[in-house]
Amino acid sequence: MRELEFIEWIYSQGRFDPAVVPVGPGDDLAVVQVGPEGLLAGTDQVLDGVHFILGEHGPRAGGRKAMARNLSDVAAMAALPLAALATVSLPKGLSRHDAQEIYLGMREIGDVFDCPLIGGDMGSWAHPLAISVTILARPRGISPVLRSGAKPGDAICVTGHFGGAWRSPRHLLFTPRIAEARVLAGQFGLHAMIDVSDGLARDLGHVCRASGLGAQVNAAAVPVSAAAGPAGLAAALHDGEDYELLFTLSEEDANTLLDTQPLGVSVSRIGTMTPGEDMVLIDSAGRRKPLRPGGWEHQT
Ligand SMILES: [Mg+2]
Repeated sequence: MRELEFIEWIYSQGRFDPAVVPVGPGDDLAVVQVGPEGLLAGTDQVLDGVHFILGEHGPRAGGRKAMARNLSDVAAMAALPLAALATVSLPKGLSRHDAQEIYLGMREIGDVFDCPLIGGDMGSWAHPLAISVTILARPRGISPVLRSGAKPGDAICVTGHFGGAWRSPRHLLFTPRIAEARVLAGQFGLHAMIDVSDGLARDLGHVCRASGLGAQVNAAAVPVSAAAGPAGLAAALHDGEDYELLFTLSEEDANTLLDTQPLGVSVSRIGTMTPGEDMVLIDSAGRRKPLRPGGWEHQT
């Protein structure tokens, strides 16, 4: 089963009244119309053996990551967190101390962003640890930035560096870019935004698909993390787990942003949104290759 196709099938089944659900499934968070500004909601899980390794990283890291992944989705909408709920499936025999550590891990990063855990459920089973967090967030004066708002000619920018996160502590210890997203969306006219969890190429693809556009990416402009290792650019484009922001804005706004660098983390322009639907990677010699999630193909 291809995950994206299945998710798109689910979307196709939904019928939403836009007066009640202005933003349905398919963005980092959904928006439901509660009060004048609306309420954002979403859910994300962490599985032992998939998103972290309990025996290697410990229970607190799993709890922290489960909360932080959700907070990163709040950042992707330029919203502020309100509260979270957690459902935890504990492997049978896990100690009370380890179960407390999971909770404390969620609290550790939730407290940084004033996001209290207001409820949840817990059970034990003869399977690996699974932690699911549901998050609620508010716009607080900044309209949610969607994946679908990119315009042709927009600059594509990113925060931070990419690649090798899974092989470094970063995928466990990242700080969700909520403060940065608020500055970006509050001071610059962001058209679209996503947090990069699935890989730079794949998440750019989500923005392209949602906006009905293509993109060209300049290989030399992609900020490659020191953790990317020998794979370099390929790791930066495809590894995922970076939890940085990818966003689009007008060329003019991008130039101001790049000149002023108002964030504590570097902002880089990696490319341009284009008409059509193709994603293209331009190498340092000016050669154009199709850019695809999970790998790029050489044209011969
Ligand atoms: Mg996301």
